[in-house]
Amino acid sequence: MIIVMKHQANAKQVAAVVSRVENLGYRTHLSEGEERTIIGVIGDERPVDLNQFELMDGVEKVLQVLRPFKLPSREMHPQDTVVALNGVKIGGPEIVIIAGPCSVESRQQLLETAHAVKEAGGAALRGGVFKPRTSPYSFQGLGEEGLEYLVEAKEETGLPIVTEAMTIEQVSLVGRYADVIQIGTRNMQNFPLLSAVGESGHPVLLKRGMMSTIEEWLMAADYILSKNNPHVILCERGIRTFERATRATTDINAIPVLKELTHLPVILDPSHSTGKSAYVRSVARAGVAAGADGLIVEVHVRPEEALSDGAQSIKPETFAELVHEAQVLSEAVGRKLAKH
Ligand code: PEP
Ligand code: MN
Repeated sequence: MIIVMKHQANAKQVAAVVSRVENLGYRTHLSEGEERTIIGVIGDERPVDLNQFELMDGVEKVLQVLRPFKLPSREMHPQDTVVALNGVKIGGPEIVIIAGPCSVESRQQLLETAHAVKEAGGAALRGGVFKPRTSPYSFQGLGEEGLEYLVEAKEETGLPIVTEAMTIEQVSLVGRYADVIQIGTRNMQNFPLLSAVGESGHPVLLKRGMMSTIEEWLMAADYILSKNNPHVILCERGIRTFERATRATTDINAIPVLKELTHLPVILDPSHSTGKSAYVRSVARAGVAAGADGLIVEVHVRPEEALSDGAQSIKPETFAELVHEAQVLSEAVGRKLAKH
């Protein structure tokens, strides 16, 4: 951080700022120009509210120099991070397609979908058992019973499983069953929960907060990494904009931006980002073309009967086409699809 003093700031005001900074545990570097004095602050400035210095006498402005996230940044770790989920690698040369129902609704529904996903070429299975919903009165998931069905589906198909934990208490339970713990959009800034998944050491799929900037998202990832858990996958799932034609707006830009800023794997969720099954394939293609390391797609054997997100769930036949298109496009961008 750099504190720029006003042109007319006097030595006493400069000394007061320096001593305030040093009392907070930072070192300072003074640059006394002809026009004005500039104070460089050395150390991790993230715990400090930068605005407080602007209130001090003689200060003109405070500039942030470093990015507020460090551990996910390419500067810290230039090589791509590869997260392994039971044999399937995300973030390497192969593109990984994760698919399954929004919610685990019954044993039969899940097993049927899992086999369809496997047959169509999916590399991992998704299915929520603790469901964050837009309305609290909607179906909230089967809980531990659903986790048992996920494990059965994994045993039958070999597909690793991705499922969400919504509370700190659910982290150890979900971690016992799942290969990847999903943190949903509504919890991206639930710092105690991020701390708990970080400490769990399990791979984490961190969805973007629907109203969060890329910088805020990377700060959330940083917090998980800071708990000594390097296994973090980022998932763009659409953001809220003024547009009402789709449920969310797919921020396709986020993919190349993240690929530049971070070493973490980046996947796209074209289901939540569009909210409409008719658009899922197109946006999935866009994700692969833009450089995503994978896709997470909602597939339902009977979308019209789905207990959650039926409108955006595609049928297994459509999913098979999506996989085929992703295969063609992945080759066009010099990659290929991961198979389980
Ligand atoms: C989901 O994956 O079904 C889900 C609830 O996702 P999000 O948190 O992105 O809305
Ligand atoms: Mn869903």
